Amino acid sequence: PLSQLNDPSLLKTDALIGGEWVASSNRFAVTDPATGEHLADVANLGATDAHNAIVAANKAWPAWRAKPAKERAAILMRWFALLHANADDLARLMTAEQGKPLAEARGEVTYGASFVEWFAEEAKRVYGETIPTTDNNKRYLVVKQPIGVCAAITPWNFPIAMITRKVAPALAAGCPVVIKPAEQTPLSALAVAELAQRAGMPAGVLNILTADGDNSIEIGKVLCSSDVVRHLSFTGSTEVGRILAAQCAPTIKKISLELGGNAPFIVFDDADLDSAVEGAMVSKYRNAGQTCVCANRFYVQSSVYDAFVAKLAEKAAAIKVGNGFEPGINQGPQIDEPSMQKIETLVADALDKGAKVVVGGERIGERFYTPTVLSGVTPEMRVAREEIFGPVAPIFRFDTEAEAIELANATEFGLASYFYSRDIGRIFRVGEGLEYGMVGVNTGLISTAEVPFGGVKQSGLGREGARQGMDDYVEVKYLCLGDI
Ligand code: ADP
Repeated sequence: PLSQLNDPSLLKTDALIGGEWVASSNRFAVTDPATGEHLADVANLGATDAHNAIVAANKAWPAWRAKPAKERAAILMRWFALLHANADDLARLMTAEQGKPLAEARGEVTYGASFVEWFAEEAKRVYGETIPTTDNNKRYLVVKQPIGVCAAITPWNFPIAMITRKVAPALAAGCPVVIKPAEQTPLSALAVAELAQRAGMPAGVLNILTADGDNSIEIGKVLCSSDVVRHLSFTGSTEVGRILAAQCAPTIKKISLELGGNAPFIVFDDADLDSAVEGAMVSKYRNAGQTCVCANRFYVQSSVYDAFVAKLAEKAAAIKVGNGFEPGINQGPQIDEPSMQKIETLVADALDKGAKVVVGGERIGERFYTPTVLSGVTPEMRVAREEIFGPVAPIFRFDTEAEAIELANATEFGLASYFYSRDIGRIFRVGEGLEYGMVGVNTGLISTAEVPFGGVKQSGLGREGARQGMDDYVEVKYLCLGDI
């Protein structure tokens, strides 16, 4: 699939440190999850390279922070334009290594680029403030300054967007970055970095450390324990988030974490049922169910339960599963064998405890899983507590509004939630009652660069996107002026 790139020089397989492409005799293989085909051997960096990248970033920092925000914004805008101009190639690289259908990959390039545009604009608006004095001999000023060298560790499910939404605000604020992309999807990351170079990003401002799973752990330790690195942003599992938070504790590093979710999707009896089914489809089956905001638990009020299950099953059965490069495909492969086994284990557990397969429930070949709807699901089943990360919709039944809120909140996670209702009072009560960072009301799609994305409870810390997305990359400094 990669022989068809318009610009073959976007296929980078070396890492980027201090503006130089760094080869390594140690390489790791990147494969196409749909076919198992070998795509490339990428530089497998380690702890020493991580140190070098931190040194390079720190060296680049003074000049980068000294640039007027408008100049940093101009570089970001050129990067944004290049991401768009090369969208077809970026989408091909992404579909090849991640599996999502080409149209969906194209959509992610647009979404990923939108963070670069947004933070290029926000760069110019990192306002400070003056505080009315309580002492006529003094004046109080507050300024915001870049925090310093930032590290980002990103996952495979959104190989471009999870990078840009961390890196764009850091760069906009005046911070250099060291990125460790997921081992499954380094090619997208490297192509995006190449375009940043072409946009005029100074050497050392944006560094990429590619590594396999084992070396990622070593690099993670270096990034977390460094006292030069002042901020770590991570998107991935709650399990790894806990490890990284602990590793960052000794240097009192600021951390932003986007971790696992267990999103409830509640359908009340006053909902527009067709609209709820549409929302359920995008929320559940997008990216083959592999997003942290995918609906994980459907709660449907008793009187509309059977109708909702039937409608959703009909739509799910129409999803075309296959290689994302083929036309008409709307669901690609699952990323790897462990993810596949987790899906199978959770479905088997639900069936053992009395759930029924309404549609799907099967693996096709090695890496594909049929869009699935399970009915008769109860709180004892593992799907009630664990993130499925696959195209499986378990449907629970409830009777009252209070019960729905209680069930929805009965989890340690708190990222995205969704509910459908046309009753304005209920919309406020439920919207306020859900313990989640994000609530989709009558919609299954909530992510966009302009809004604060993030979770509460064990789903994470901090917000990405929006005005708030800049907060983690700046320090607030108070200046007290005396002798006035
Ligand atoms: P997922 O389950 O989505 O693969 P992970 O949390 O395992 O999520 O991985 C997300 C990112 O974290 C990847 O870039 C991976 O290489 C990295 N990673 C995983 N474990 C560690 C670790 N112990 N230290 C540093 N990085 C890690």
